[in-house]
Amino acid sequence: MSSASPQTTAANQGVAAELPLDDPADLANVRRGRIAGLERLVVHHSVHGHAILDTEDWAFLDEDTAPSTVNPSLWRQARLNREHGLYELAPGLYQVRGYDISNISLVEGETGWIVIDPLTSSETARAAMDLVREHLGARPVTAVIYTHSHIDHFAGLAGVIDLEERAARDVPIVAPERFLVEAVSENVIAGPAMLRRAGYMYGNHLPTGPVGQVDCGLGRSVPAGSVSLVGPTHEITATGEELVLDGVRIVFQLTPDAEAPAEMMFHFPHLRALCAAENCTSVMHNLYTLRGAQVRDALAWSKYINEALHLFGDDSDLVFASHNWPRFGREEVRHYLRTQRDTYRYLHDQTMRLANRGLVMTEIAEELDLPASLAGEFGNRGYYGTVNHNAKAVYQRYLGWFDGNPANLHPLPPEQSAVRYVEYMGGADAVLERARKDFDAGDYRWVAQVVNHVVFAEPGNTAARELQAAALEQLGFQAESGPWRNFYLTGALELRRPQRTGPSGPGGRQAAALLQALTVDMVFDLLGVRLDGPAADGEEVAIGWRFPDIDQEWTLRLEHSALSSWPELDDDVAATLTMSRSTLTRVLADPTSIGAALEEGELTIDGDAGALGRLFALLEQPDPRFNIIEP
Ligand SMILES: [Zn+2]
Repeated sequence: MSSASPQTTAANQGVAAELPLDDPADLANVRRGRIAGLERLVVHHSVHGHAILDTEDWAFLDEDTAPSTVNPSLWRQARLNREHGLYELAPGLYQVRGYDISNISLVEGETGWIVIDPLTSSETARAAMDLVREHLGARPVTAVIYTHSHIDHFAGLAGVIDLEERAARDVPIVAPERFLVEAVSENVIAGPAMLRRAGYMYGNHLPTGPVGQVDCGLGRSVPAGSVSLVGPTHEITATGEELVLDGVRIVFQLTPDAEAPAEMMFHFPHLRALCAAENCTSVMHNLYTLRGAQVRDALAWSKYINEALHLFGDDSDLVFASHNWPRFGREEVRHYLRTQRDTYRYLHDQTMRLANRGLVMTEIAEELDLPASLAGEFGNRGYYGTVNHNAKAVYQRYLGWFDGNPANLHPLPPEQSAVRYVEYMGGADAVLERARKDFDAGDYRWVAQVVNHVVFAEPGNTAARELQAAALEQLGFQAESGPWRNFYLTGALELRRPQRTGPSGPGGRQAAALLQALTVDMVFDLLGVRLDGPAADGEEVAIGWRFPDIDQEWTLRLEHSALSSWPELDDDVAATLTMSRSTLTRVLADPTSIGAALEEGELTIDGDAGALGRLFALLEQPDPRFNIIEP
């Protein structure tokens, strides 16, 4: 149907009535110091030529007032996020925003630019640097800082500086300790599952528009461009560490295991400016990211912000971050840091207070709301994370998936239980008849929950699929969170369209660039989760691996349906492979290239070549389009 129901319209009107949506403070902060920008920004893929970003796709956001199909609070956030251009935050400190989901920041050094976070793709980074060059003149890049280990903050480096030039000029790259291992490891073991779910979270397959993708909450959208990974030349290992880069003094604060496993904030004393990385971003961030990830530490996160307040709060007249917009003025900076600190602290403490009273995850999430003193400020609202799923994250971090009720210890899986639920409830038609009444009453959460059983019992039941899609759609239209909206609307899309959406986004293309940065041990771990364990039962084989270029030898052993690896060549290996580390990347990224690598002499096998074949035959390729909304 793709229009707002009366209940959805009323809910969204309620949001508009409750919130001071025309509060001009955020827009003033967004536009402050704007130097230049294009009327329409189009960025093309450097190899394939198609547009990876066209701001015209969000022209519908010209409307001041939200349509009934978009939560007005999310609409406001989307309008703030669609602003794009080059901004002067302070003399010598600039940002390009709206060219990517993340921001690129530049600090004027004595001879060139110190670049903070070179965006997600080289194409968007190059476009941002073109804008900088046009309006601020041509200056060399003299240093690069990665605030943290997420791909939208390092992968566009090649668009900021030619990678050979960087190496030749020895331009420093500064990052928090453990940056490289975290940059590649967070998405390795669960990579395919995360990628498929990320497509839902960022709305990559949705058309943009009032009934489609509007914003990601943290920024407009993720560009699917070219990525690279160059590790740091210097790692920050302690809070209080100082560096002088191109004549600019910087004081660092390490904040690991909060927003990212490796992250840091830092202060520029001469600018009286604090870079908050992704720890304070004018939204409530994710303690659990819906694409799937390890749960983050809300308590540590809150304490880091408190530490920043005490370390830098008195000496900061502005705070800027790697997403969204800055805050200006000493009092405003201090107030903002305090509310961000207390948002994460509140989520942590109140979730565990209720957990210790015996409430389970869903009950806590239902009961908790931010207090008015926090919820009343847009910068703490759930445009990206939400109170609901962040409370569940805190619970999960401490108590895990099991709620303690033995009835939930060993439930039937979705498909089996769905068949029986539907049968108990009198069959699909009876369920749908009642569910339609609940839909008409606007009870969409319940409809989605109950009709899901019908879809899982009878995936070919088009009436059930349509009703489920309609319920998810209304939930999406009401969602304040960008990722929630995207999840709901992508679910509706896949229910209505038999062709399932594949993964997209930078992940699909990041494989080779990131695989090359893995340690050999991590590569073998990756193979381990591809092993078809049941099929491997009874097989025993040990393969030796020699990598002369990195001077390493390994044994990879299969027994008891499990792989294990050890950095020595064992005596009993059936075959030994010799190759360079980059050939390993090549055959991993494309297993069919083994034959070619052998022919070209890049790979040699001594011993029983059939042993390798037996092992590889037991490795499965993950399904990049696995089912989500149906069995
Ligand atoms: Zn980010």
